[in-house]
Amino acid sequence: MNIGLFGGTFDPIHKGHLALAAAARERCDLGRIYFVPTNVPPHKTTQPVASFFHRYAMTVLATEGEKAFVPSLLEAPNEFVVHDKKAVRGAVAPAPNYSIDTIRKVKREFKKADRLFFLIGIDAFKDIPKWREAEALFSECEFIVASRPGYSLADVATALPQKLRPREEITKPFSKQPAKGDLALPGVTLHLLDNVNQNVSATAIRQALADKKPVRKYVPESIEEYIKKEGLYGN
Ligand code: ATP
Repeated sequence: MNIGLFGGTFDPIHKGHLALAAAARERCDLGRIYFVPTNVPPHKTTQPVASFFHRYAMTVLATEGEKAFVPSLLEAPNEFVVHDKKAVRGAVAPAPNYSIDTIRKVKREFKKADRLFFLIGIDAFKDIPKWREAEALFSECEFIVASRPGYSLADVATALPQKLRPREEITKPFSKQPAKGDLALPGVTLHLLDNVNQNVSATAIRQALADKKPVRKYVPESIEEYIKKEGLYGN
């Protein structure tokens, strides 16, 4: 089976995440996509995020009704306190979660014919050279990289870790063409999704909620209700 792994802070999960996953499922015939809320995102250790409890609960709600979308506890805290609903927006504890560890953990359970695809938006992809064992990520799985309003897919190959980056002579002839399709380079397979076009971010949603503005067009109804019920994000 083709299996997708989609990690994120999901603070909160929104329609951009769901659009990316739906497009990836179609494109690469994914039988299952694990939605993995990260307990401690390595790049956000100093920022406050909602408790893992709430982010996971919202992930469960948002993936309901779509059989292939599976909420995952792969990056849950070691001691997952199920009723820790009070830790609403505290600074997160240290010990960040690294994608390379999660990928290896998932693959331990794989059957021979399973293939792993890592789902990611182009904004996050551009940071990959800074990730732990960045080059190893590409030998462990294929990547599905999605467009996102405000970011260009055109320079996706130049965003690769240096050792995997193709020489300029190779990328230059393609630099004026729309970035789409598959990119198979030595040691790297990228599937580009150029049709994910949801102009939404969790940051904008948190800001709208703090300003008492509606967020219904950015999140499924169940998420809006959960946020209200739990009084998240200053709501
Ligand atoms: P924040 O605004 O808090 O940084 P975010 O909206 O970027 O959050 P994350 O949970 O950090 O959401 O993102 C998880 C993954 O989903 C990342 O790979 C990111 O690129 C991708 N993603 C998030 N929003 C979109 C979107 N609107 N379109 C395409 N990809 C997206």
